[in-house]
Amino acid sequence: MSQHPPRPLVMKFGGTSVGSPTAMAQAVDIVRREAARGPGVVVVTSALAGTTDALLRAARAAVQGDLAQVRAIRRELEARHWAVLEALVPLAARPQVWMQVHAHLDTLESLGQAMAVLGEATPRGLDAVAALGERMSVALLTAALQARGVSAQALDATQVLVTDDNFGAAHPDLEASRQRVQQHIVPRLAQGQVVVVPGFVAATAQGVVTTLGRGGSDYSAALLAALLPAAEVWIWTDVDGVMSADPRVVPEAHTIPVLSYREVAELAYFGAKVLHPKTIRPVVEAGIPLRVRNTFHPEGPATLIVREREVTPGQIKALTWIRNLSLIIVEGRGMLGVPGVAARTFAAVAGTGTSVLLISQASSEQSICFIVPAGARARVVQALETAFAAEIARRDIDRVRALDQVVIITLVGEGMRHTPGISGRVFGALGAHGVNVVAIAQGASEVAISLVVAEEDATRALQALHPLTQN
Ligand code: ASP
Ligand code: MG
Repeated sequence: MSQHPPRPLVMKFGGTSVGSPTAMAQAVDIVRREAARGPGVVVVTSALAGTTDALLRAARAAVQGDLAQVRAIRRELEARHWAVLEALVPLAARPQVWMQVHAHLDTLESLGQAMAVLGEATPRGLDAVAALGERMSVALLTAALQARGVSAQALDATQVLVTDDNFGAAHPDLEASRQRVQQHIVPRLAQGQVVVVPGFVAATAQGVVTTLGRGGSDYSAALLAALLPAAEVWIWTDVDGVMSADPRVVPEAHTIPVLSYREVAELAYFGAKVLHPKTIRPVVEAGIPLRVRNTFHPEGPATLIVREREVTPGQIKALTWIRNLSLIIVEGRGMLGVPGVAARTFAAVAGTGTSVLLISQASSEQSICFIVPAGARARVVQALETAFAAEIARRDIDRVRALDQVVIITLVGEGMRHTPGISGRVFGALGAHGVNVVAIAQGASEVAISLVVAEEDATRALQALHPLTQN
């Protein structure tokens, strides 16, 4: 007989899932149900929706010396946290929780004063401010769980994940973190407690608070799950899992039942607001299933993410889009067969600190085109004109031009690999709806095909392509 205790479940609640009294009440119900059912639950929570943004706004105001604005943000946060406390925690338990929330808001004010005096915010100071949101939500959620009879215990950032001091996007130290998990989480689970920990927030070995980068709560959940190890990770959010397209644009969009890690990575890269691939790598590598579920529709459809899965040939899973882009075109007959043009082009672009989202070169070699965010257009064009000044003067390069208001639409699905005829179906559907394709690119992985279309055609293109998706 195996003596291993059953593996716990890690559940992460995003900002909107704890962002109002109703939302947090739903989260509490969900935890309560799973805690009653199973072999231990670790809850990872985000800050109340919008809190991290508000805290960072306060830090920026402080740097400008605007302490009135810091106090205004403090009062706004105080009111939002109070509303949750009042709704979910009985009178007798409130003072103790409120003291903690208050202490964190006092810290916001004193850090703000320090930043105002210095006229600057260090990365370390910004992390200390940003971390306050999760520290407050942990206090509230724990008390709300206790109020519903769940034996819940909060852990502080310094008791969970250990990172280096790369403030703003700290890297976890897995071995040190594993020890913390063994020391602080495992024994509490064994006592039947639900352990509530802040997402996004961690600390160095010396106990200095760090953060894992914006949206980092998913990463916290994945790391903890891999370290425990957990049976599964459930990411609770405000949509029914990962959708086949943005439902505001494609009303027929459906929840994708199963996605592979590579598909998730492509979706995230091409603009879908799903999990960041880095954040889920720890669980995927550990072979731990991850589900994306809707807090507001807990019995509804969900998406399961797995390391690998059998692919259905020809299957397109999802469509994504990225807007607000410009297509930059370097063209000229004199480029034919001249080596180094591409290297110089992208070196010039890199020099502007711009990341390129998609590249395509016609085989005639008479033009190279690539996509950058619209905001980078002017500096990229200027950098290229400078880099190729001599060629432009000689007319080897006719010009560098930009096409604005373009959109990248990406089709994602591992089943597209080695399946002939996909592009035929894609272009057929677009042609039938009169959509003009400006450029296309397919990565060697063949997990995604990207098309560039004009902004005004984008909605029509997504609607025309969606019937090609399948579960
Ligand atoms: N609260 C943090 C943020 O807004 C982390 C998270 O929500 O995942 O970035
Ligand atoms: Mg968030």
